[in-house]
Formats: sequence, C-alpha cells, structure tokens
Amino acid sequence: MNLSKYSFGIGDRFGLQGKSQLKAIIKAKQAGIDIAPVWNKSFREHIIVNSNPSDTREEADDAVKSLEWNGDYFVDADHINLSNVDQFIESSDFFTLDVAEYIGKPASQEDISSFMDKNKKYVGNLSIPGIEQPFHISNDSLQEISIKYLFAIMEASKIYNHIAERKGTQNFIAEVSMDEVDQPQTPVELFFILSAVSMYGIPAQTIAPKFTGRFNKGVDYVGDPDQFAKEFEEDLLVIDFAIKEFGLRENLKLSVHSGSDKFSIYPVMGNLIRKHNKGIHIKTAGTTWLEELIGLSLSGNEALQLAKSIYRKGFERANELCAPYSTVIDIDQTKLPDPSEVDFWDGEKLANSLRHVPDHPDYNPHLRQLLHVSYKIAAEYGQEYLDLLNKNAETVGEQVTENIYNRHILRLFKL
Ligand SMILES: [Zn+2]
Repeated sequence: MNLSKYSFGIGDRFGLQGKSQLKAIIKAKQAGIDIAPVWNKSFREHIIVNSNPSDTREEADDAVKSLEWNGDYFVDADHINLSNVDQFIESSDFFTLDVAEYIGKPASQEDISSFMDKNKKYVGNLSIPGIEQPFHISNDSLQEISIKYLFAIMEASKIYNHIAERKGTQNFIAEVSMDEVDQPQTPVELFFILSAVSMYGIPAQTIAPKFTGRFNKGVDYVGDPDQFAKEFEEDLLVIDFAIKEFGLRENLKLSVHSGSDKFSIYPVMGNLIRKHNKGIHIKTAGTTWLEELIGLSLSGNEALQLAKSIYRKGFERANELCAPYSTVIDIDQTKLPDPSEVDFWDGEKLANSLRHVPDHPDYNPHLRQLLHVSYKIAAEYGQEYLDLLNKNAETVGEQVTENIYNRHILRLFKL
C-alpha cells in the first residue's frame, strides 16, 4: 500500500460528516489537486464520544461509495500503541505509531552501542545536500540523541511488527509520531531518528515530528514563521538524504499534526513542498466538529439553543475540559463572553465568533478554543446532538466542506 504525494487527515469526532469532508477532496481534484483522504481517529477520541474503530471504517466506506470516489482513501488508527492497537487492526489500514511517551527512556547499553557504531561515520561534519551549513556531530551529541530516541523507535518497531503479523506487511501504511511532546525535534535529531527507523525495519511512509512553535488546537500557529520555515525546509532535505542513506521508502514524507487551522504557515509549507517537489500529510481533527457547531448556530431554533447550551456547559466546566489539552491551548478566560450574554446572540453572531476568519470583527479565538475541547459535552448530549445534526445536515455539511476546501486545502495546495 502506497500513500500518494498529498494526503489529508480528516478526523471526524462524531462520524457524520464523511461525505461533506470527501466533497472538499473532490472539489480539490476538480481543481487539479490530487489528495488522498484519510479518516483518522484516535483511541482517546473513540473513548470520549463512545464510538468504535469500525464506525470510522463504515463512515469512510459509505462516503466513498455514495460519492463514487475512485481514488485511494485510508482509515487511520491515530496515536495508537501496543495497549490499544488490537481493536483497530481489522478496520484500519493506516497506523500512527505514537511513541512520544518513550522519548527519553534509554535503550540498553548494547543497543545504544550498536546504533552508535552504525552511525559513527556521521561524526564530524555532516553535510546534507541543499542545506548550506554542515551540522557538527560529536560523539557526545550522537550518544545523547541515541539515549533520547532509540528506545522510542524500538517501541515503534514492536508496534509495527505486531500489526504486520496480523495484517501482513503490504496491507497498511505506517506513520511514526513524536509530536505530542513539549520539546521539538531538530532536523539533526530527525536524521538519526530516521536512521533508527531504518535499522529497526519500519517501512514508515510518514513521520510526524514536533515542530518549533505552538500548535494550539483549532487556532493559528503561534511562533516565528521564519524559524518554522527554516526548520521545515531542513526537515524536508533531511528526509530526502535519509531515504538515500538508509534505504527508507521513496515516498516517506512529513506528517503535520494539529494541522487544523495553521493558516499563517500553510503557505510556507505549501511553497516549500512545491520548491522541493515533496509530498505532505496534514492531519486535522477537531476542526470539523467546530463546523458542526457553526452549522447548528446558523440553523437557528433548537439547534442554536443546543449550541448555546454546549457553550454554557463548556464555560462552567472549562477547567475540567481544558486539563487534558493544557499544552495545546491558550485561553484567556477574561476574554470569554458570559453565557448569559451569548444567550442573547443570534445564530450569525455565534457562528461569526466561532468561525476561523481571523479578521472578522466577531471572531473570538478564546471562545473557539474552549468549544474545540468541549466536544465531550456534545457527546454527553448524545442522540439529541446527533439528531439535530441530521436534521440540519445541509447547512452543517456546507460549513464542513467550505472549511476544509477554502480555508485549508486552497491555502496549502493552491499552486
Ligand atoms: Zn498528533
């Protein structure tokens, strides 16, 4: 199985927007941009909304069938590890092996020594084609990198082998992810991580490092876009070189997580992948659920009431809801409107406050981030929430398609 040059992760918390999401991919195709859709959903999301991996498979298959999509598509078991991968084996054909929690745990002395032996030829000046300055690698820095990352890649290899034994090596795509950590990985670290990926036999097609800057949920990138551009470009060149040096898969590419809504760096990434003729995988998730809320707001009546109730509960339970996401949100509570004020808003006002159009006078990134993490509340409404989505499917679906196509795909892939 081969992941094409451009692929787009379209997570969908509640599993009802598959068709509207695929419509965006189809619009892209009509505009000459070929993208493989990937429906990603993590174990954590399944638990919170009480869904199963087989539901995601069904959603994807249904969307593909009803819109007669004949291109590739995949179902991604997102951020899995050995403890929860089994329930994804049957329904997924893309696995994101999350080894962030193993970073920093040292491998055995023996493993470290053999890894260092294999890479000792890079000690000294490491020149990577396309990068002006060579990197200086000392024995100590190589050892430090080995201690930090080798064990994590060995774990990724265990998960990979576990899946391969059950599915067969040809029947799935493997991604290695290390993004859910505080410290970004440097391009040099990425180079040696890829050396380990090769040494431990993982035929990864995507790799998701942690980049510099903050990738907050559902809002724009916070950081220095120039620094990001430099690092991103070096990562592209490192991957190119690593493919040749370590015999990795030719189509290995970067995967950018928390890729929703990073509008200020989309053109940066887009220009660089085109400059170097590289592919990319962008993973979004929560952005579709916010479009559902926007659609409900615009639908008025009981749908608008429910959107307001979700905000009220989110506001009251902000601490609880934000806790699991503390490293990826920045909410200034003083900028959150009081729910009793929001109760007087019409649907347009709520939609405009929530919709990610940064220069709209009503746009409020604090409200947006709070609602981003409030999907648990919608899940608690259960059938009531789903019924209103179905009842207002047209308005909701339009928001979903427009968001993915106009605000994401065009910004990133438009030539
Ligand atoms: Zn991630």
